Amino acid sequence: MALPLPLRQHFDYLLDASQPAQVGCRVRVPFGNRTLIGIVWQIAPDDSFAADKLKPVQALLDTTPVLPELLCRLLSFAAEYYHHPLGEVLISALPLLLREGRNLSDYQPKAYQLTAAGRALDASALKRARKQSELWQALLQHRISESLLGQQYSRTSLKQLMDKGLAEEVVVPASPYTAPATPASGLKLTAAQALAVTAIHQAFGRFERLLLEGVTGSGKTEVYLQSIASLLCQQQQVLVIVPEIGLTPQTLARFQARFDVPVLCWHSGLSDSERLHCYLQAQSGAAAIIVGTRSALFLPFWRLGLIIIDEEHDQSLKQQDGFRYHARDLAIKRAALQHCPIVLGSATPSLESLHNALNKRYIHLPLPDRAAGQALPGFELVNLKQQVLQYGLASQTLAQVRQQLAAGHQVMLFLNRRGFAPALCCDECGWLTECQRCSAFTTYHKQSRQLVCHHCGASKAIPRQCANCGSTKLTPLGQGTEQLEENLQQLFPATAITRLDRDSTRRKGALNTLLEDIHQHGARLIVGTQMLAKGHHFPNVTLVVIVDVDGALYSSDFRAPEQLAQLLTQVAGRAGRGDKAGKVLLQTHYPEHALLQDIIQNGYASFARSALMEREQTRLPPYQHLSLFSAQAHQAALCQQWLTQLAEQARQFPALQLLGPIPAPLERRAGLYRWQLQLYSANRTAMHQALSTLLDTISQWPLSRKIKWQLDVDPTDL
Ligand code: ADP
Ligand code: ZN
Ligand code: ZN
Repeated sequence: MALPLPLRQHFDYLLDASQPAQVGCRVRVPFGNRTLIGIVWQIAPDDSFAADKLKPVQALLDTTPVLPELLCRLLSFAAEYYHHPLGEVLISALPLLLREGRNLSDYQPKAYQLTAAGRALDASALKRARKQSELWQALLQHRISESLLGQQYSRTSLKQLMDKGLAEEVVVPASPYTAPATPASGLKLTAAQALAVTAIHQAFGRFERLLLEGVTGSGKTEVYLQSIASLLCQQQQVLVIVPEIGLTPQTLARFQARFDVPVLCWHSGLSDSERLHCYLQAQSGAAAIIVGTRSALFLPFWRLGLIIIDEEHDQSLKQQDGFRYHARDLAIKRAALQHCPIVLGSATPSLESLHNALNKRYIHLPLPDRAAGQALPGFELVNLKQQVLQYGLASQTLAQVRQQLAAGHQVMLFLNRRGFAPALCCDECGWLTECQRCSAFTTYHKQSRQLVCHHCGASKAIPRQCANCGSTKLTPLGQGTEQLEENLQQLFPATAITRLDRDSTRRKGALNTLLEDIHQHGARLIVGTQMLAKGHHFPNVTLVVIVDVDGALYSSDFRAPEQLAQLLTQVAGRAGRGDKAGKVLLQTHYPEHALLQDIIQNGYASFARSALMEREQTRLPPYQHLSLFSAQAHQAALCQQWLTQLAEQARQFPALQLLGPIPAPLERRAGLYRWQLQLYSANRTAMHQALSTLLDTISQWPLSRKIKWQLDVDPTDL
């Protein structure tokens, strides 16, 4: 059995012969003084000697596996690749209700039919019970579904028939969706789109990886839609994985509007029973298309014909805690197991995927132009040096904002810092509000009247006095979106402003109300964080202002330039998507910075290719494989000691190069010190062998129990 425990081992239990268990079924088993839900993983032949020592399974919960064979293979690969305990991996792939051991049939549609006794009954037997007799007559003709029952027949009569043993309940799994007779028609494709759709069609029925590298507004979604159309006629299913925040009703609506088949969504906002419903619809084939966030990758499908990963560069595809998998990479594995193609789409592909496309491991499908012929927005640098700024905005920025508003257009202002100000500062002594538990300042949130740490989430009331000198003169330092909104409102009192960030969209449904407002042109100025960057199509936005990028220019993470280039390109891509041309103003103190110059002069495609060359020279991913061990403890010395010990062991593997132990960029979080050791290798197999050996060694160290430690394979965040 695989049990949901952080242990790298399996456990044996006794199944009696009357329990027809299969691999992938759930069982309830005793474990210590608890009971756990586990997954049958291997079935060993009868061995009466061992049987004496084994505890019996308490209950077998499924007659057919909740994890079909293909998913078992995918998850076992994942557990091995990410060196994560199998039991936790298997369990994390199941909807919560199944993890809790709920009975699957309780959630499946039900129907009622007559038992043998019921069918043999003489009509006269029920003549004194008119309602029961009517129901019995109807059941003689056909089964009656749960939903019909309440409308047409009385539940009491049914219960009476069941009590007499005349009727019974049966589970009727949903049936596969009805395939449309002809493919749904779409827009007339551009030449580049047509080539892409043809290439995808040619890949149907076999494993193939395709990278759709299409600039913002190039019509990637139209390519997805037209690729899907013919698959649906063959009654195949499609899985579309989108970033966390990209899954708006607008996205879903585009799929629903095009096809007359069931389109379901899957994301963290669903209730547990909604998730189970989605799981069952995917499994039975009742759902034709599922649009979901990363964990949709673990849904069972009846007949999966294509996987699409939209915004494949997006960081939310990587799970950052617990079982740290990359949804893109596991989706590729899944496509290989399913023998179906996978399309990775992005305007700003990850360097990993681009590398594979340039190497011809993936089929490369470029869409270099916008679909409706609009020009890509031009960048203009606004030098902030020696400028008098008004609320962080240069005078020429303000002039252009005014001009666009006067013309009736919408303007977007991007600032990747939520809250009112990144810190409160004492006017007398310069003291700054700091988080007690992290090496970070606390953000001032004016509306909620709190200081919030954006790293550990801790919040507290705003202090009256400086903790250092007692002065009461505390002023906000720097600017966040909340303040930018307030300031803009002063500058443009008659203009409606909308703010899009994690604070303004916390309430359920709030994001959609705000997006609707933008689409209806209710909001003229749109202020927001990177939430603005993700795939939205706002045709009336003609100007995008990037208020401040300077913080992101100098970071220790080797991926920082790639991420900044992606962010800038994606944000810029919101401009000029309608029939009016767009423009991007980039405010900076470093207009001569090489990265900014490269992006604005040559665009992302060119930046990415030169960044790849740099990675090759510096032997960084994708040219070498990277794994990251991190240690956390209340004392930094413990982290250091543990990682030093680990580094000594790791040095015995000639295939590994080490960097560290070094403190993590945020050295202390939620009261714990954080240190790391980076392992690089050109040889993936050698890396994984080394990791296995190291993990065995670690498990034997007493120190490993005194600290918190993790291994992250292919980390995206250092
Ligand atoms: P992307 O996903 O690449 O950002 P979208 O699929 O959202 O691009 O398309 C951007 C806009 O271009 C949409 O309004 C879409 O309707 C339009 N569009 C896409 N393909 C075509 C086409 N072949 N002809 C005309 N307009 C198109
Ligand atoms: Zn002070
Ligand atoms: Zn904190």
